[in-house]
Amino acid sequence: MKKKTEDIIGRSLNALLEDETFLPDLQGNPRRQAFKSLVSILSTPNHINKSFLRIALENGTVVRIPAFRVQHNNTLGPYKGGIRFHESVNEDEVSNLAKLMTLKNALHEVPFGGGKGGVIINPREYSPKELNLICKKYVQYFSDILGTEKDIPAPDVGTSEREMDWMMAEYKTIHPGQTYRGSFTGKSVINGGSLGRREATGKGVYFTFRYMMHNFIKNNETWMEDSDNRFARTAMEHYGRPLTIAIQGFGNVGSVAALQAYQCDYLQNKVVAVSDHNVMLYNSDGLDIPALIEYTMDHEGDLPADEEALAEHDIKATVHDRDDLLEQEVDALFLAALEDQIHPGNMENIKARLIVEGANAPVTEDADEYLSEGGVLIVPDILANAGGVIVSYFEWMQGRETQFYTEDQIFELLYDKMQHTLDTIFPQFFKDPFPLRQNCYIHAVTKLSTILYRQGKLF
Ligand code: GLU
Repeated sequence: MKKKTEDIIGRSLNALLEDETFLPDLQGNPRRQAFKSLVSILSTPNHINKSFLRIALENGTVVRIPAFRVQHNNTLGPYKGGIRFHESVNEDEVSNLAKLMTLKNALHEVPFGGGKGGVIINPREYSPKELNLICKKYVQYFSDILGTEKDIPAPDVGTSEREMDWMMAEYKTIHPGQTYRGSFTGKSVINGGSLGRREATGKGVYFTFRYMMHNFIKNNETWMEDSDNRFARTAMEHYGRPLTIAIQGFGNVGSVAALQAYQCDYLQNKVVAVSDHNVMLYNSDGLDIPALIEYTMDHEGDLPADEEALAEHDIKATVHDRDDLLEQEVDALFLAALEDQIHPGNMENIKARLIVEGANAPVTEDADEYLSEGGVLIVPDILANAGGVIVSYFEWMQGRETQFYTEDQIFELLYDKMQHTLDTIFPQFFKDPFPLRQNCYIHAVTKLSTILYRQGKLF
């Protein structure tokens, strides 16, 4: 199943190269050859590092936990990407996610390469002490390949600033006298993390959505009239009235994007449905997002799962099956949980016209093709969810300079960077026949291949 991610990228790029009309102005130009060579280079990571972390659990049992760090490509700078703690993570998945990081960073002009880590555990089954040990061992086992100028991990699914603080501390112990603040990002602010890092991905997801609504729905009426795009037609119909949004996942990304939608703005959009690993909550008048966030903060991140809990906290919503969320009659769907959520088994039931990928690879290749052909606009992961790594970059910079920005400055820098990418990608998307995802790949790969061509490393 995880192979799908790789297929989407590799096949999409190879299909372009078979298409004679692709890059016509570059035909015969060595850059086209460089592009081709890079597609082949990107098909495998530079290094796959794996190990077993030997841990003595609190009950005395000794376990060996498989752990990975994949370093995909470092053309643009040190390898960069999160470490995922999840029971179903595997080498293929980590490699695919590392590749997405290479493309994400290139797309947004973040001077990092792509990497990703994984540890095969369900973190909910371990005590904080055991998790601390796992983090320390991870850094000990991979200590030679990590570092401020080599490979910089960050949080991902199942990890947070707590784990980054622990890992950075271990790195500092192993490498005394070396700069360490830039060795991990996504740390707590008190440990040298950046203000705004925790909210960055969710804010970026909503920013991308709002950018589209503002620039391409309000202002691009010619496109809307001409296009056969189902989403465009919906936007026309809905012009002047709020759009409805359903959000899958109410963690770091989903809850922040939901709050942004709730608090913003002239569009007055309504979040009518949210879900987590237990339930979906629905209210056609819009959910009280601040109350839900407050609830989750007191309940280990979980949404209220029954009518009683809702009534007790005076939250108006109905309780449904978790997976019903994807099939809601809404205008937009934000996917902020895990990968492979929309697949051939449910793709025909999707009613949203716009899908924003807050998670990495939440739509399988088949579903992507089916929905795109039906006119659903899918804003791909590497475009929409880059807020996290962009603010990681600011954190890394601040760590080197030991000078820190205010939260407002961070968000301004974040939005500037994302807007720059969106301003580059969208006009192109409206001009040429490639889907948005492919457009993003083209942009990222062209950038990387041009750099390597100029460095004399690709011909
Ligand atoms: N795990 C996040 C991602 O997939 C952030 C990575 C980072 O900050 O390095 O983009």
